[in-house]
Amino acid sequence: TVRVRFAPSPTGNLHVGGARTALFNWLYARNLGGKLILRVEDTDQARSTRESEDAMVRDLKWLGLDWDEGPDCGGPYGPYRQSERQAIYKQLAMQLVEEGHAYPCFCTDKELTMMKEEQEAKKLPPKYTGKWATASEEEVDAEMAKGTPFVYRFRVPEGERIEIDDMIRGKVGWDTDTLGDFVLLRSNGLPVYNFCVAVDDATMGITHVLRAEEHLPNTLRQALVYDALKFPRPKFGHMSLILAPDRSKLSKRHGATSVGQFKDQGYLNKTMINYLSLLGWNDGTEQEIYETEELVKVFSTDRINKSPAVFDVVKLNWMNGQHIRLLPEEEQVAMIGAVLVNEGLAASADSDFVKKAVKLCANGIELVEDAAKEVRDILAYDLAGNVSDEKMKKVLEDDFGEIADAVIAGFESGELAAAIEANDFKKFVNGIGKTLDRKGKRLFMPVRIALTGRMQGPDVGEVLDLLSSEGVPDSAVGLEA
Ligand code: GLU
Repeated sequence: TVRVRFAPSPTGNLHVGGARTALFNWLYARNLGGKLILRVEDTDQARSTRESEDAMVRDLKWLGLDWDEGPDCGGPYGPYRQSERQAIYKQLAMQLVEEGHAYPCFCTDKELTMMKEEQEAKKLPPKYTGKWATASEEEVDAEMAKGTPFVYRFRVPEGERIEIDDMIRGKVGWDTDTLGDFVLLRSNGLPVYNFCVAVDDATMGITHVLRAEEHLPNTLRQALVYDALKFPRPKFGHMSLILAPDRSKLSKRHGATSVGQFKDQGYLNKTMINYLSLLGWNDGTEQEIYETEELVKVFSTDRINKSPAVFDVVKLNWMNGQHIRLLPEEEQVAMIGAVLVNEGLAASADSDFVKKAVKLCANGIELVEDAAKEVRDILAYDLAGNVSDEKMKKVLEDDFGEIADAVIAGFESGELAAAIEANDFKKFVNGIGKTLDRKGKRLFMPVRIALTGRMQGPDVGEVLDLLSSEGVPDSAVGLEA
């Protein structure tokens, strides 16, 4: 069976790049009935924190992702934190030493620097050329007896070509001669990152390594470790970068980049899943809106794109609006109602007022939070504040006063209320039209402005219906203008 993993380094927040990697692995596993493993890569003890791990787990769960094995839920191949796997690394490093694939190296920093400079002078790639690659057992024993500090180095085979058939990029290859013998265990006994990753993927039975493109250079070392340990290599797939619309690297200055930030800004988790899924993947059709379950069904790695993906907030916002509208009505009411209550615009989330407000806003908003602004605009509008709009100015210059007076009169006489009650707002407006001898745009637009303070927006009848509903806050003073 397919076994894939998401292997974050807990040194910060879960960003969109990491979330996409997690998602693609999750979709791949769920599509094929495989297993997803969460592995925490905390070898860099100085930068890794448990808070970061917890926050990443929280964000992954918020997205709706789950895993079959991991530090929180255990599993048959644990432990799932690299910091708890030291014994495994040490044991396999010793196996490599015994079999001649690795050797102790006693070079001092000074010697290593000299080596590097010599290589540079000869215009050769930096490479270990020290004597310990070929030292005799006696020489090694002598240094050990003296207690000289040492590292274990991996013996890179000479003159070989390592090739992988990348699931996304096709054939990728390296000449081993470009790589010097690299360190596996440092002098303090701690393993290096690439060794841990290869050992973990091998011993956890990972079949497919789907990860970001930036890890491609690591694959050479990892493949060599696999080969030396006589584990069959997994299949690798390296996903393209995620860029900002200006095609620079996506960063803070482009706005939110972490999953937690999007969550706090009120994006739906299924919007994030949908949006991330299209960063470098498509199903071959024009479809853009997917429910998560649908993605699980249609996802395949064949259609992962190798060119960079662009993270576009405008599109994300549009998509969030689409997903709001796909929610069942009760969920819309619960969600938008909570926002309205939170903003002091409604006393309880299940009043008639909230239900009507939700119906009225749900069609236009992109973020759940936008509903608060919509409702605030409806409840108390600032006509003066809008008058700078040239089109609005024209309407107001056309004797707006007589319309406003007629609307206020209708309010005071109860005629307006009766019309709303009878669900016949048109009749009320036509009555005004008759009295003032106006019709069409000259009638409906100024009435709309008198009642809502805006040229566009929700249907005026619905706005009035909302304002007359039970639970409307006292601050609803539609006709202040
Ligand atoms: N820990 C690495 C990272 O967070 C991922 C390594 C891998 O997927 O092989 O970028």
